[in-house]
Formats: sequence, structure tokens, C-alpha cells
Amino acid sequence: MEFINVAPTGKGPAAQFTGDVWYDVIYTGTDPSRTRTNMVRFSPGAHTFWHHHVLGQTLHVVAGIALVGTRDGVIFEAHPGQTITCPPGEEHWHGATEDRFMEHLAIWESAVEGTPETTWLEEVTDDQYQAPRSRQF
Ligand code: MN
Repeated sequence: MEFINVAPTGKGPAAQFTGDVWYDVIYTGTDPSRTRTNMVRFSPGAHTFWHHHVLGQTLHVVAGIALVGTRDGVIFEAHPGQTITCPPGEEHWHGATEDRFMEHLAIWESAVEGTPETTWLEEVTDDQYQAPRSRQF
């Protein structure tokens, strides 16, 4: 057993995130494991661009209220302790509400060789971000 040296906190790039987003790489599996786990912190109003993950992604909310939007216009609102899973290939975005910080664990797998694990698309529009929300739980 050993402690893992966690890399310095990284800043989410402006080509993938609206607003200020910071992440800590918590765990990166070594071959044959392809596990990836990041702790991601969103400032109020910050959110990802549209994207999808080739093997899907699971989000576990640690603090604040997470919004997770899909192309059918539904926005799931998830609270601390709740977990949302996005199936492989489903286009979505996630982020904070406008009035508070949000923190979630993001768990996914890196892709098989030669396939991008995450495909980044266009920015979420204000209308999409402000669309009515529905609670899953
Ligand atoms: Mn995602």
C-alpha cells in the first residue's frame, strides 16, 4: 500500500469550460486498469461545453448543486451524495448553479488505443444553461 502523489490542481481549459473550473487528478489507473477519477470544482455559473465520453462517465456530487444537461433539453439537478451516470456517447454538459460553488467527483475510463476518451463540442448557450430543471431523485 502507498500514498499517491497528487499532481497540482489544474485549470479547466477555456475551450472546454465556461467560467472557472479547477480539477485535481485523484486517481489514474495503470494498465490494464483504465480508471480515471478527478475532483472537479466549478465556480458559480461555471459549466462544461457539450461533450461525450466514449465509455460514459459517472458524476458524484460532493458539494453544491450539480446541473447535468442533455440534448433533449432536460437538466437534472443533483445534490450532495447523489450520483448521476452518463451512458457512452450521450452528449451532455455539467456544472454549477449560478449562485454557488459545486464540486463533483468525475469517474470514467480512458479509451482503447486510438479513440479519444472525451469528445468536446460547442459551448452551452445561455438559453440551454437556463432551461427549466427536473429532479431525478
Ligand atoms: Mn461529462
